[in-house]
Amino acid sequence: MSASRFAERLAAAQLAVEEAGAAAVLVGVGPELEWLLGYAAVGHERLNLLVIGPSGPPAFIGPRLELAAAERAPGLASGHVRIRSWEEHEDPFGLVPALVAPRERLPGAAMPAPRLLVSDGLRAAFVLGLQRVLPGVSWGLASAALSPLRRVKDAEELDLLKAAGEAADRVIEAIVGGPLAGRSEAEVASEVRRRLVDEGHDTAEFAIVASGPNSASPHHEPGERLIRAGEPLLLDIGGRRRGYCSDITRTVWVAGPDAPGPDNGFVGVYELVREAQAAGRAAVRPGATFASIDRAARDVIVAGGFGDRFIHRLGHGIGLEVHEEPYVIAGNGELAVAGNTFSVEPGVYLEGRFGVRIEDAVVCTEAGAEALNDAPRQLLVLSGR
Ligand code: ZN
Ligand code: ZN
Repeated sequence: MSASRFAERLAAAQLAVEEAGAAAVLVGVGPELEWLLGYAAVGHERLNLLVIGPSGPPAFIGPRLELAAAERAPGLASGHVRIRSWEEHEDPFGLVPALVAPRERLPGAAMPAPRLLVSDGLRAAFVLGLQRVLPGVSWGLASAALSPLRRVKDAEELDLLKAAGEAADRVIEAIVGGPLAGRSEAEVASEVRRRLVDEGHDTAEFAIVASGPNSASPHHEPGERLIRAGEPLLLDIGGRRRGYCSDITRTVWVAGPDAPGPDNGFVGVYELVREAQAAGRAAVRPGATFASIDRAARDVIVAGGFGDRFIHRLGHGIGLEVHEEPYVIAGNGELAVAGNTFSVEPGVYLEGRFGVRIEDAVVCTEAGAEALNDAPRQLLVLSGR
């Protein structure tokens, strides 16, 4: 991503800080810092902090021993940000107040407490350190200002998300190609992780492999249970590829020579979830509320009689984080806009029996949802071997 793109993001963030009426936004290591500077710094006990006020150049505070690495980040190499490194023996928090000086006090006028916004994942130890050197400040979360910017993906980000999605699709297709029956969930999960990396992911973040009744637990931790023929298998996998996340779920039926195929109960639930997932994708358009997208999918499952077994929101934003804003959930009246990327992942979970979830990441375009995943959604009955 070009240095000019980061300069644009910093300028947009500056405007958002001003519109939020804040004295500054303070961004620590994490996805906001990656988005603003292209700097994927390592999170640890040493303070790295980007300070963006409503005017003047942003400033970055970081430990001297990481200065060379920081300076290579495109957003810092561009020269748009002042860099202030600190030595091991220095108190880095002491550098912050001068960078967030509130607007000048009018003589005699009472000033409201300046407001500072901190990135949502900033360590408690850093927040307390900042509060120590900045008494009398009111505090808020940076997502209020930055999330509306980050959630609209640009063309380059969409390309990265598409590439991550396609890579995850190929992993799903390789895994369902078998062999599956007789292998443990944990063994298949490690194959998933290996394949995600082989497909260009920097990291495999999660590999839910849930066989038989375990599929009824949405966040099942793969264990030593052996996958059997004659039962469903739920795969929910993803990771980060060049910084951007993949996340796909498919539920398949593992068949075998002496094992039963899917019964009507399973097929009925599967088709209901598939219909709900299609309805959720069809409801995506600029101007739709996220609540209405959730509702479109949920209505299908409610009408099928399983409303109380769809126990989670329909989806979550996806980008530099696997779960980020916007959340596709009842009560979220925010409007979708072109460039939003989020998951559509209805599920039905029948404890002790089975669960079904189908998940794609999608991008909202002027023409509606475009799926970032394209692995088959129809019920696959696999040979298992
Ligand atoms: Zn998922
Ligand atoms: Zn998801």
